[in-house]
Amino acid sequence: MHAGELIASDWCGRRANAEDLPNAWSLMAQVMDPEVPVVSLVDLGIVRDILFQDGRLKVVLTPTYSGCPATEMIKQRVRQALECAGYATPYLEQRLAPAWSSQWITDLGRQRLLDYGIAPPQEKSGPVPCPQCASLDTETVSEFGSTACKALYRCRRCKEPFDYFKCI
Ligand SMILES: [Zn+2]
Repeated sequence: MHAGELIASDWCGRRANAEDLPNAWSLMAQVMDPEVPVVSLVDLGIVRDILFQDGRLKVVLTPTYSGCPATEMIKQRVRQALECAGYATPYLEQRLAPAWSSQWITDLGRQRLLDYGIAPPQEKSGPVPCPQCASLDTETVSEFGSTACKALYRCRRCKEPFDYFKCI
């Protein structure tokens, strides 16, 4: 390790190095959302930033909903993932402004939602395509699906109900 790679020192028993930030990002990419277990916190854009502050690893999180009951579970999972990887005292910051936007969901996240049978949020207006058969002949069953951030839809063509991850 070159001295120039040092970012912080004297924490969790070793010196931090330039590998720690990409390493932390890949750890976060393995922490799944409690409500939609096929997408990670990075896929959803919940992890906003990872940096060093005062020699500690700091992860900035913006929950999808400020009142989302999954927020505490997300923080626990993030802390656990970092601690298991040897980051002894991670600092988690919850950032509420700007508010989370469904536009922050990555392309990979959208594809994973679709593969799971959840229609990803669409920013343009118009019908929500069925995740099973791609038909646009769909209807809203309920604005409130299994969780607050989803609505329940039904496809008139294949008759299958599906969740739509709401655009906010
Ligand atoms: Zn369909």
